Amino acid sequence: MAQDVHATGQCLCGAVHFRVAGPPIWMAQCHCRDCQRASGTGHMSNAIFKLADVEIVGETASYASEADSGATLARHFCPTCGSRLFSVNSARPWLIIMAVGAFDDTRWFKPQMVLYTKSRAAWDHTTDQVPNFEGMPPPPPPKS
Ligand SMILES: [Zn+2]
Ligand SMILES: [Zn+2]
Repeated sequence: MAQDVHATGQCLCGAVHFRVAGPPIWMAQCHCRDCQRASGTGHMSNAIFKLADVEIVGETASYASEADSGATLARHFCPTCGSRLFSVNSARPWLIIMAVGAFDDTRWFKPQMVLYTKSRAAWDHTTDQVPNFEGMPPPPPPKS
């Protein structure tokens, strides 16, 4: 890999490390119930990268569930310490959704939108300085 390393990270116990080359494609905070349960807190901060830009070192375990879209979302975590690390959506297998809290340095993270505000808890504050959506954002307009 000749590209520069954009960021590195690891799980809590260090059994799984990862390295990302290239910038995130998309960044969001998600208050959906699945993210709340899987993370044990009010929302997940997610950054989507090209799968080809991400190198994961170490074994992960995963749990797959059906997303609202009908696609399957496989959430990967460290089998030793349980840290949430990344997800892959069956509808977009060329992308990887990284859990931002697992990165060594997270200053680059700037959420572009907040998702599933319909299940946002009153005690969990995210920014209203970017678009907020009750569920998933509407699909982008068709390119002309
Ligand atoms: Zn671990
Ligand atoms: Zn979610």
